[in-house]
Amino acid sequence: MTRLLVLLGDPVAHSLSPRFQNAALEAEGLDARYVAMRVDESDLPGLLRGIARAGGAGNVTLPHKRIAARTVEVATEAVRLTGACNTFWFEDGAIHGDNTDVDGLRGAIGALLDRPLDGSRSLVLGAGGGARAAVLALAREGAATISIRNRTRSRAQRLVEEMAESVAPTRLEVWVPAPDSGPVQRLGEGPGVVVNATSLGLRESDPLPLDASEMPAGAVAMDLVYAEGGTRWVRRLRDAGWTAADGREMLLRQGALSFERWWGRPAPIDAMRTALDSSEATP
Ligand code: NAP
Repeated sequence: MTRLLVLLGDPVAHSLSPRFQNAALEAEGLDARYVAMRVDESDLPGLLRGIARAGGAGNVTLPHKRIAARTVEVATEAVRLTGACNTFWFEDGAIHGDNTDVDGLRGAIGALLDRPLDGSRSLVLGAGGGARAAVLALAREGAATISIRNRTRSRAQRLVEEMAESVAPTRLEVWVPAPDSGPVQRLGEGPGVVVNATSLGLRESDPLPLDASEMPAGAVAMDLVYAEGGTRWVRRLRDAGWTAADGREMLLRQGALSFERWWGRPAPIDAMRTALDSSEATP
């Protein structure tokens, strides 16, 4: 019987996950199909439970990762610490959930950065599900301090309060730039990663999440958002001489880790990468 794998979110039409997950299924000769489904919040728990109990599995994307974390019955540490779940499956009579964004981002940072993050200060822009995964990823990579900047400051404050204890000894703080504070480097400590975990960049007309003039010297930039040819932020930073990557590498790596949870075998990452890269040429 063909196994159903799903991506549950709203919106999902733009997602590249079906493209490379179906390439993975084909490469491994698995009788399964991966489809994206737009789902309202109120339908998410019932749909997730039903698909998992019927032998299916899947991913959850924005804005439902936090509800998914409350819906699964066995949660990994990454789900418990971030309060977000992006991967679910059925195993030993229970619905399991993981947050593969965390290790997906760690892998993407490792591919971008040629030095460890020990003792560094990183900056996370945003305070939603992606930002929580970024905080845990940076902490596990050894960041000494992580500053959070978010449009809604109270949400950044809540993130710090909820995650500070679990990421210790990494120090978490809300970053409130004074009008004349200049680049983040003036805050001290070694340069780390500036992560855009806001949804800015999904549209070409969006404002930049951080101006190039605010980048701390020596830092690298990682955009969780992805776009054909790189997001505007990534293109702008590269033009100004910074090392910057968009969210494609993270997307690929979190997808490969999800595949491994669903099938209990290594993901055919080369086939997945080829499918993802070829999607660039598609309008
Ligand atoms: P989310 O939970 O909805 O959070 C969105 C964040 O963006 C919030 O911090 C929000 O600030 C901020 N924001 C939204 N509009 C803004 C604006 N006009 N100006 C400034 N800030 C704004 O979403 P998420 O799940 O964290 O995802 C964030 C982005 O990361 C999405 O584009 C998602 O596709 C991407 N992502 C990519 C991957 C990957 O594998 N590459 C994985 C995860 C997420 P407020 O709190 O003030 O509303």
